[in-house]
Amino acid sequence: MDAPRLLTALPGPKAAEWIARDLRVISPSYTRGYPLVASHGAGCVLEDVDGNRFLDFTAGIAVNATGHSHPEVVEAIVDQAAKLIHMSGTDFYYGPEIELAERLAALAPGSEPKKVFFANSGAETIEAALKLAHHHTGRQRVISCYGAFHGRTYGAMSLGGSKALHQHGFGPLLSGVHRIHFDCPAEEFDELFSTVCPPDEVAAIFIEPIQGEGGYRVPSPGFLPIVREVCDRHNILLVADEVQSGMGRTGKMFAIEHFGVVPDMLCLAKGIASGLPLGALITRANIMDWPPGSHASTFGGNPVSCRAALATFDLIERQYMANAVARGEQLAAGLAELAERCPEFTRPRGLGLMRAIDVVEGDRPSPELRNAFVDACFHRGLLLLGCGTSGIRFCPALCVTAEQVAAALAILGEVAT
Ligand code: PLP
Repeated sequence: MDAPRLLTALPGPKAAEWIARDLRVISPSYTRGYPLVASHGAGCVLEDVDGNRFLDFTAGIAVNATGHSHPEVVEAIVDQAAKLIHMSGTDFYYGPEIELAERLAALAPGSEPKKVFFANSGAETIEAALKLAHHHTGRQRVISCYGAFHGRTYGAMSLGGSKALHQHGFGPLLSGVHRIHFDCPAEEFDELFSTVCPPDEVAAIFIEPIQGEGGYRVPSPGFLPIVREVCDRHNILLVADEVQSGMGRTGKMFAIEHFGVVPDMLCLAKGIASGLPLGALITRANIMDWPPGSHASTFGGNPVSCRAALATFDLIERQYMANAVARGEQLAAGLAELAERCPEFTRPRGLGLMRAIDVVEGDRPSPELRNAFVDACFHRGLLLLGCGTSGIRFCPALCVTAEQVAAALAILGEVAT
């Protein structure tokens, strides 16, 4: 499908009808930036209900790793759905869940044997890590970062640190959560441990190797090794939240591999099953020592999602991780050129196809101008999302082509001039 191709004013008449119905019945807590009503898609192209075609650089918030409805993923889903849709891995055994766990255990960083717990979403995977960290260590406290986003359930929300709105009105939150600054020096841990947080009471440190919602922030090379060293010194578990950065998006299967650090636990969701709900917590086998009944999920690791994930891994390993590196470099060069040419753009950053640029007015970060640019791109047929205070994020499917990257950069250049 060629894109962009705009046939109507936006929203078109059918989209406007759907949105009016949505407003009457759907929770107002969602954050729709512009009136896109999706109908179907292929690769990085999405068609709306009025036949308008968009270049999709959101991938459904970094989820459709292999693009919209990749034929190999669809085939795996259809084949599995015809055989067995659900049986519950909590109480029974079935092949796709075991096969996927074997694959994840083999792929996760570190040579020691691994075990896997399956959930349905990123937040559920973080909840599992939080519970397991407390259970395994017997300790009461955890540490997370300012700027972090780990999800919307109570535990995951309590770890968050990106927007006060996420917590506003929802207290009381989980107690015993301390925060450090992302990319802080080692001394910040010393201060935390000597003032308010005895390190021998800390079960785990939760870190996004690249902060997602907080602004696609890549830490300096020394930060994650510092966190690893702190964890080793105090027997604290290091939990890598790779819900957004995992699955080849950064040009390696897991973003933490760029930093030469092996986490004790790794959380995956979003891109793992190309759009079907699935989350996976992978840990060293000796950490997953909770007894039967202590944690489980009815739907987690359902056979259809597991087959979609196996097909997703095949595609990423066969071709899309290499594509993420090549197209990521093209995108990086284009964003650097835009930052050079347009005074409104600054700080191009990221790894692979996890990239962002900030929008400023003068020296001031401008969320208003960022939103205006994202809206203007939508009206030219390019789908984008914001991140951080005034960032625009670029997280297309890993199958994005050179022509699509060039077209997206051209549209962004047009709106800023
Ligand atoms: N962790 C990270 C890094 C995320 O980006 C997100 C979602 O954006 C989550 C956790 C929560 O995932 P979910 O929305 O699937 O619960």
